Amino acid sequence: MKLIHKTAIVTGAGNGIGRATALSFAKEGAQVVVSDIDYAAAQTTTQKIKDMGSEAIAVKTDVSNLADLQSLIDKTVRHFGQLDILVNNAGVILPKRLDDVSEEDWNRLCDINLKGVVFGCKLALPELRKRKGNIVNMASMTGVSGQQNNPVYSATKGGVIALTRSLAIDCAMEGVRVNAVCPAGVSTPLLEKWLANSENSEKARINQDYSHLLGRTATSEEIASVVAFLASNEASFITGQDIHVEGGATLGYGVGPKAEWHSLLPPR
Ligand code: NAD
Repeated sequence: MKLIHKTAIVTGAGNGIGRATALSFAKEGAQVVVSDIDYAAAQTTTQKIKDMGSEAIAVKTDVSNLADLQSLIDKTVRHFGQLDILVNNAGVILPKRLDDVSEEDWNRLCDINLKGVVFGCKLALPELRKRKGNIVNMASMTGVSGQQNNPVYSATKGGVIALTRSLAIDCAMEGVRVNAVCPAGVSTPLLEKWLANSENSEKARINQDYSHLLGRTATSEEIASVVAFLASNEASFITGQDIHVEGGATLGYGVGPKAEWHSLLPPR
């Protein structure tokens, strides 16, 4: 077990990648603080962990609220006596062209996707320094490659990657590692919502699948296992990296949409 005797906070752990990460951490022996703005969802994840015979508590947190973040850290230390790992996973999408983005949209996205990560790191660092712990930030391939109709979300995720690198530099001599994970498409409630709101959801789903060379989106568990690796001592010489878990989505040159390209392949 990779995370035995470790205490980890996972934000946005009530659903999707965050839930899978919390479950995978528990399987690896960690005590998990399941944090989400949706308390009922956090409780469901917590119960699943307890059913596995592992330890977890649910904490209602809006990551865009600094008082909530401080209280999350305090509750963790009060309950488990330590904090070894922070996974800043909570995030929201904004599939809009820039022409349609309002100031309110911008503030919401930045507050949750960027400010929540910046201050999550800041407030957790005093405890992480004591334990020579580490941080894993959930970024996105959109922050590396950009994405159609997604400029503001992509900007927040690019910001998370830049923050990860800079913080890794500042924290290295304190023994704290900081990394980011960049998924492409992952089958979660977030992706389902995005597909459902597309003009042609079925076509959008096929395009989404085949925009990955592997011909499908990732499962949440496939992302969670990379987060667990980065958070563990197995990754003790990895810091400041953005790890691309993208099924080949960014490979290839000179072909049109990968969906069409795949359909031109002869059957095997
Ligand atoms: P999801 O919507 O399925 O789950 C996100 C969870 O975050 C939900 O439980 C939600 O209640 C919680 N949340 C939302 N706002 C919050 C807030 N202000 N404070 C605390 N919790 C909040 O999403 P997901 O697909 O599992 O995404 C998780 C992370 O992975 C996000 O940062 C997302 O940007 C990133 N990501 C997702 C994909 C994908 O295809 N699903 C791809 C790349 C990156």
